[in-house]
Amino acid sequence: MISLKDVQAARERIADITYVTPILKSNQLSEICGNQILLKSEHLQKTGSFKIRGAANKVIQSVQEGAKYVTAASSGNHGQAVAYIADKYDVPATIVVPEDVSFCKENAIKGYNGQIEKCGTTSAERIPRAKEIAIKESGVYIPPYDDPFIMAGQGTIGLEILEQIEEVDAVIVPIGGGGLISGILSAIKESNPKIKIIGVEPDTANDTFISFQNKEIISIPGTVTIADGLRTNQPGDLTFPVLMKYLDDIVLVSEDEIRNAFSFVMERMKQLIEPSSATTIAAAMFNKLPFQGKKVATVISGGNVDLEKISKYIVDTQL
Ligand SMILES: *Cc1c(COP(=O)(O)O)cnc(C)c1O
Repeated sequence: MISLKDVQAARERIADITYVTPILKSNQLSEICGNQILLKSEHLQKTGSFKIRGAANKVIQSVQEGAKYVTAASSGNHGQAVAYIADKYDVPATIVVPEDVSFCKENAIKGYNGQIEKCGTTSAERIPRAKEIAIKESGVYIPPYDDPFIMAGQGTIGLEILEQIEEVDAVIVPIGGGGLISGILSAIKESNPKIKIIGVEPDTANDTFISFQNKEIISIPGTVTIADGLRTNQPGDLTFPVLMKYLDDIVLVSEDEIRNAFSFVMERMKQLIEPSSATTIAAAMFNKLPFQGKKVATVISGGNVDLEKISKYIVDTQL
């Protein structure tokens, strides 16, 4: 299991690559939520999401150990992050993407000089292919969440929250495979166990919620949600034990609540955030948090949205 020390080491390793992202706030949002809400704004991070933190930590460590080639299986934020950091370190990267990858995602990866390989439509097809290429090229396959270096890299957000927000009471984090939240848990709970950490999942992609209730990893069938960064079928083998050890609670939000939060942040705060990130605001806005009157950091995990999809996300906010 990773520890606070691993997160501190990650922070040193990636310090020259990543931004310390700002904390944004809206008094109106805080009033609606009944808690003081502070947005840790990773949508303003390099490559548009926090994924660069874990990817940089893992790729730099691999390069230091002699890696000369990396691969990943993701058309989304992880694929972009791996392509970006590999390019910085002059290491070729092949990113395996689905046949139906959107034009703008493919372009983002190419913009970072990543090689694109199209393969199938499911991650069950893409992951073996990315591993196969890594073996053939004597390179390293970079997983999206279930890896100690990835988890420690994502945890650097936790260290920044501790420094940027004095006396924070709680931190709200979206959950996909659990890399982000397991890193943040290790960083924060080993620094100050009194700070509450609450995970959020879409109610249509509640694999970690069910696993957490049952105290064992449970896999659910295909998930459908506009929060595409959270569309996993089960938590990771390495991430889940960290959740079992430290996590206070997991709450669920509906697709409609995610759309409301997305629209609120866009209209009132003038910020473009991903539906995956809007889940944390939705949890606060729709009274899912088990407390009131607290100082709460919500992790806004990314801001990469296909522009043609925005109209599908926007609703007249009910608040
Ligand atoms: C990957 C991702 C998540 C989920 O992170 P995990 O480490 O898989 O739990 C949340 N939001 C965004 C924007 C992401 O790209």
